[in-house]
Amino acid sequence: MRIYLFFGPPGSGKGTQANLLKQKFPNISYISTGDYIRYHIKNQTEIGKIAQQYISKGQLVPSSVINQLVLEEINKIKTDKLSDKVIIDGYPRTIQQLEFLIQNISKPYITLFFDITLDKIFERICLRRICPNCNSIYHLIYNKPREDEICDKCGSKLIQRDDDKEEIVKTRYQVYKVQTLPVLKLIEEYGIKLVLIDSSQEINQVFEQVIPYFMS
Ligand SMILES: [Zn+2]
Repeated sequence: MRIYLFFGPPGSGKGTQANLLKQKFPNISYISTGDYIRYHIKNQTEIGKIAQQYISKGQLVPSSVINQLVLEEINKIKTDKLSDKVIIDGYPRTIQQLEFLIQNISKPYITLFFDITLDKIFERICLRRICPNCNSIYHLIYNKPREDEICDKCGSKLIQRDDDKEEIVKTRYQVYKVQTLPVLKLIEEYGIKLVLIDSSQEINQVFEQVIPYFMS
């Protein structure tokens, strides 16, 4: 099993790229810790309740919780023999998580680092709107709904996710710089291949940079 780590600040477009890859290569499995956590919060599970306290302040969910989630998902993929390529998005975010990954799951095959400036992140995230009903994602400049703030697909009123708000984005970026960026150095020390992706480009241009690593 090849593990691909998608690394980069919140708003760097990692999730979008992962979704494009899934469409092109249906056998790729995709683990997004952000999606799991949102699912748990929505369903108010025990994990969800703990996570919410941290996320609402722009902080990271404790590593012990995230490690367990990722381990369970990897085991599921292994058991189902779903695929030999797995993208992990939003993990590891701390040195502790990277060490857990290597010791308990597997050494990653490659890390793609989606590099982007904070200004560009603001433009991307703070103008993003989602449909609370069907989860469609819009952008007020690049992917406008036909009617102002209304979902094209189901007609629901669009909302801004709490963690897309400017103050939270700023806090999350700071947390990323302090806690997550140091993980990159350790990734190199562990001898894991690291590739820099210029993520400030248009989605398709970024995709062209990413795709060669999934061709073999
Ligand atoms: Zn909708």
